[in-house]
Amino acid sequence: MHNAALDGLARDDTRFAGWRYFPFDVEPGMLPAALGLMRERGFRGVNLTVPHKVLAVGLVSELDPAAREAGAVNTLASAGSGWRGLNTDGYGLAAGILGDLGLGLRGATVVLLGAGGAARAAAVECLRAGCAALWVMNRTRSNLDSLLAHLAPLAGGTPVRALDAGGSAAGRPAGAIVINATSAGLRADDPPPADLGGFPGVGAVYDMIYNPPRTRLLAQAQELGLPHANGLGMLVHQGAKALEIWTGIPASRTAPAMRAAAAKALGY
Ligand code: NDP
Repeated sequence: MHNAALDGLARDDTRFAGWRYFPFDVEPGMLPAALGLMRERGFRGVNLTVPHKVLAVGLVSELDPAAREAGAVNTLASAGSGWRGLNTDGYGLAAGILGDLGLGLRGATVVLLGAGGAARAAAVECLRAGCAALWVMNRTRSNLDSLLAHLAPLAGGTPVRALDAGGSAAGRPAGAIVINATSAGLRADDPPPADLGGFPGVGAVYDMIYNPPRTRLLAQAQELGLPHANGLGMLVHQGAKALEIWTGIPASRTAPAMRAAAAKALGY
């Protein structure tokens, strides 16, 4: 996905002729050494995935506000002799929902399924964007409580509430954007993380999972006639934003080529 975008940029601008994006498999304990080596060798940037996103927070010389609030870094940019830590996951989610569903998070009621790393980045983005209310549901209550405690100082006046998995439709919000940030659905036979029929009405459904392209949650959304989209847009937009940070080229310019490359690689 990134190399497809870089190939396109290099065709128009020789500055990007030698740029490449490489995957590295780094043991968590080796992250400090790996990041030091990458800085020494002139890497301009790095993307990080689980579990490095949280570990890297303590390894950067500068931390952007979105990364600080999420407590996670998915993008590093060279800064002096060290790294600046950023987080483009929230941007990717918002851009994915806007691009694929035509909906903004500002003023929206959001039901967030999950309380892991992706849910935390999503919750922080919803609050930063000015959502009207945020409801969070999760399988394990203690993890939900940890997330709510993390969000409390960031919420300002926005209501952030726990949603009981077994609760009745009467006590649930109507017209919400339901965002799946659980890993339930990664396997085709996974049960859906929530029953959409258990809400008094759902506005739209966004599933962060993009492989498989249609989870059982999305299949139910389709059966109910609800607007829905999978997480391919989020994947693409967080990547395009990282590329913007490194190259200065707007994410909107590279996102189409990245989406085409990702869709092809995933066999969509
Ligand atoms: P974590 O492991 O940090 O969190 C997993 C979450 O899923 C927890 O809330 C966990 O609940 C819940 N969960 C796991 N299995 C089930 C189940 N069978 N039923 C209900 N809930 C379940 O993972 P991440 O937060 O990093 O990732 C979550 C999802 O988001 C993944 O599917 C990942 O692929 C996707 N993702 C997509 C991105 C994109 O760009 N589109 C970016 C990042 C993530 P519990 O607390 O009970 O264990």
